Amino acid sequence: MNDIPAGFLSREGDNGHSRKAKERMLGQRARVIWLGGLSGAGKTTLGLALEQRLLELGFLAQLIDGDIVRHGINSNLQFSLDDRIENIRRVSEVSSLFLKSGVITINCFITPTNAMRRLAREILGEDLLEVFIHAPLEVCENRDPKGLYRKARRGEIADFTGVGSPFEVPEHPDLTVHTHEQGVDECLRQLVDFILPRIRLE
Ligand code: ADP
Repeated sequence: MNDIPAGFLSREGDNGHSRKAKERMLGQRARVIWLGGLSGAGKTTLGLALEQRLLELGFLAQLIDGDIVRHGINSNLQFSLDDRIENIRRVSEVSSLFLKSGVITINCFITPTNAMRRLAREILGEDLLEVFIHAPLEVCENRDPKGLYRKARRGEIADFTGVGSPFEVPEHPDLTVHTHEQGVDECLRQLVDFILPRIRLE
């Protein structure tokens, strides 16, 4: 047991060798950039564009998208409140492992309630950058990129956020991006301006 690094088993510890050394190797400060908001607000569109831009700028970033996670690690979860909470908890824990490896993650999850946002904050602490990707429900419903609002209105999807399930406006987001007022390029610029100083190594 003597050669196990201090803090190996603690939540706060590196659970391995030093996160700082890995961050220095990658030349970045790891963060979790959490994009929350209604379906159709623009999380995946902006998350993909942000990942691409960060890679071009020399940062190692990994998109974690709700739709993909729900087909993989969380394929056993449905959309009840308990399952939505468990979805956010698991993703927060996975993101915490990425942080320990020095990698920036971009998490695209609706994250509909303030209790879920608090849970992510409890797990990730100050490494979490909470971004509210905002467009009014009517705008998201008009966009309906996946046809899900139409299905929900026809009663084919129960518990769809904004229709049969609530979405609480975030209380303390670190940044709000208004995708109904600005185009994708301008939203991306706003995101990058906010994030760059927070992922640079001091
Ligand atoms: P979400 O991941 O939040 O469900 P998507 O990114 O899948 O949303 O869909 C958002 C839709 O809105 C896309 O069709 C996108 O082209 C469109 N859109 C229009 N304006 C913007 C904007 N400023 N930012 C992001 N997406 C936008």
